[in-house]
This record gives sequence, C-alpha cells and structure tokens, in this order.
Amino acid sequence: MVLILDGKKINSEIKQDLSTKIAIKIADGYAKPCLAIVQIGNTKESTKYIEHKKKFGHAIGVEVLHIHLPDTVKTSDVLTEIQSLNTDDAVHGIIIQLPLPKHIDRDTIIEAVAPEKDVDGLTSENIRGLWTNDKGYILPATARAVLTMLEYYNIDVSGKKVVVIGRSTLVGKPTAIALMNKGATVTVCHSGTKKLSDHTLEADIIISAVGFPRLIDEHFVRPHQVVVDVGITFIKDEEVDKVHGDVDFKAVSEIVAAISPVPGGVGPLTVSSLFQNVFDAYERKISK
Ligand code: NAP
Repeated sequence: MVLILDGKKINSEIKQDLSTKIAIKIADGYAKPCLAIVQIGNTKESTKYIEHKKKFGHAIGVEVLHIHLPDTVKTSDVLTEIQSLNTDDAVHGIIIQLPLPKHIDRDTIIEAVAPEKDVDGLTSENIRGLWTNDKGYILPATARAVLTMLEYYNIDVSGKKVVVIGRSTLVGKPTAIALMNKGATVTVCHSGTKKLSDHTLEADIIISAVGFPRLIDEHFVRPHQVVVDVGITFIKDEEVDKVHGDVDFKAVSEIVAAISPVPGGVGPLTVSSLFQNVFDAYERKISK
C-alpha cells in the first residue's frame, strides 16, 4: 500500500510543539516571539497568505505585525521601514511578502533585511550559508518543509538519487542544495530539460516544484519511489477555486511507495516551517 506523506498531520504536531516551546519561554519571563510581515499593495493572493500566517502565528503565541504599505510607496520608504524593524529588539523575524509591485527594487529590499531576522532565507548571507552548509543559516520555508516531511517518515536522502523539478530561487534551487547538503545525489530539471521522464524514472525520490497540473503521471514513475508534490495551481471548478499539484495523484499513487497529496502535503507544512524559522531566530536572539 502506498504511504501518504501527510503534511497536515506533521503540521499539527509542529504547531503543538512550537506552542509548547513558546509557552515555556513566556513562563520563563521572555517576551513573545514577533514576526513582522511587510506587504506592499493589495494583491489578493498575498493578503490571503498573510491572513493564514497571522492565524497560525496567533494560535502558537507569536505576535504578527502586519505592515501594510500602499503600492504607491517608494523603495526608499520601504527601506526606512525595514531599517526600523531591523533595529527593533522586539522583532525577531521579517518577511517581505512577494511578489512586489514592479517599481519596487526587489533585490535591494530583500537584501536590506537583517540576515538574522530573514526568516524567508532570501538574503545573500543566508544563501551563502546554504551553499557552504554553514551552521545556523536560515533555509527557505518550502525547502525546510520538504526536508521535514522526508525526515518525519524516516526517508533518508543520503546516497539517494533525487530529482528536483523546478529551479526557482525561492523553491527549486534551495530545495536541491539543501538535499545535496544532506548527502543526496541531486539532478535539477527545468523547462529546458529534454525527456523529463528519463530523469524521473532513474530517481529514488522525485520532488516536483513546477506549478503545472498532472505534469507527472504514470509514465514518469516506477515502483519503490517517493514522490513529493510541491506544486500548487488553482483551477476554477464550478466557480470554486480547486487546488491541484504537479502530480496525477490517482495514477501515480498506484505505482510508487510514498506520495504527498495536494492539498494536505507540503502546503500546510510550509507555514509551520516558516514559524520554525521564526522560533529559531527568536531562540538565537534570546540566548545571546
Ligand atoms: P516558478 O518560479 O514559476 O518556477 C517553476 C519552475 O518549474 C521553473 O524552474 C521552470 O523552469 C520549471 N518548469 C516549468 N515548466 C516545466 C516543465 N514543463 N518541465 C519541467 N520544469 C518546468 O515557481 P516556484 O515559485 O518555484 O513554485 C513552483 C510551484 O510550487 C508553484 O506551483 C507554486 O505555487 C508552488 N509552491 C508551493 C509551495 C507550498 O507551500 N507547497 C510554496 C511555494 C511554491 P525554468 O526555470 O526553465 O523556467
């Protein structure tokens, strides 16, 4: 029988674990952890994701500051805001909610976040830490979620052939490098890859982070493989937005050894991974 990699279950265990750890810190007299989310403009999707993060944060005892700036704001004004969050001792983590409006200089804004508060792991210092496998760097939440999911089910990646499909800065690349750091032999595929199935059929573990529904069907997999579906695509079905992964779950789950569903897989785990990053940043700060 196929093993379902249940992101919801792991998410609720992490949520419980973080709540307990935070309650202990507060009982010991420390202030609450605090995450600041900087939003520019009113993208519907961003607002939805922020609401979700606020809800999760409040449920585990993290204070979430939502700094909502109009989309007419200048890069220099955003930088001033970030500087003030960087120097505020009560703030432990900062997120710049992406995407940003076109007139905002994304790289400058991201780089302005203090690396020790960069809980999205996007500053050059954290990327360097990922490349060099330094201690204490902050791994982007989605990559951390993938690693956590595999670890939870005792799926050792060391020495395994892993195919990561997708090479984005936010998801594919950090996931691939983090897996390499754990001893996996990693192949990264992308839109220019010829005969994707030649690669996926060779893999022990397939991680798909593309955003193309049913890209991976029964022709891309074989028995004994583990498939982690990171993809999220919303498709309207009878006026309701339904979420789809990259993998044809029904066809693939009949063949492989383990598979993560969408919804209920990496998605819920990404939020808890983000708050693990916040808690780690908080712990590092208060233990100084
Ligand atoms: P992205 O920036 O659009 O990157 C998509 C990647 O897929 C690119 O590297 C692209 O290749 C590659 N690709 C496109 N078509 C392909 C094909 N036919 N075959 C092989 N590779 C192909 O997206 P992203 O930000 O990395 O996100 C990827 C997916 O994960 C999206 O569905 C997103 O919604 C989802 N996501 C999920 C979570 C979660 O919590 N579960 C978190 C973040 C993102 P090129 O580089 O050649 O263009």
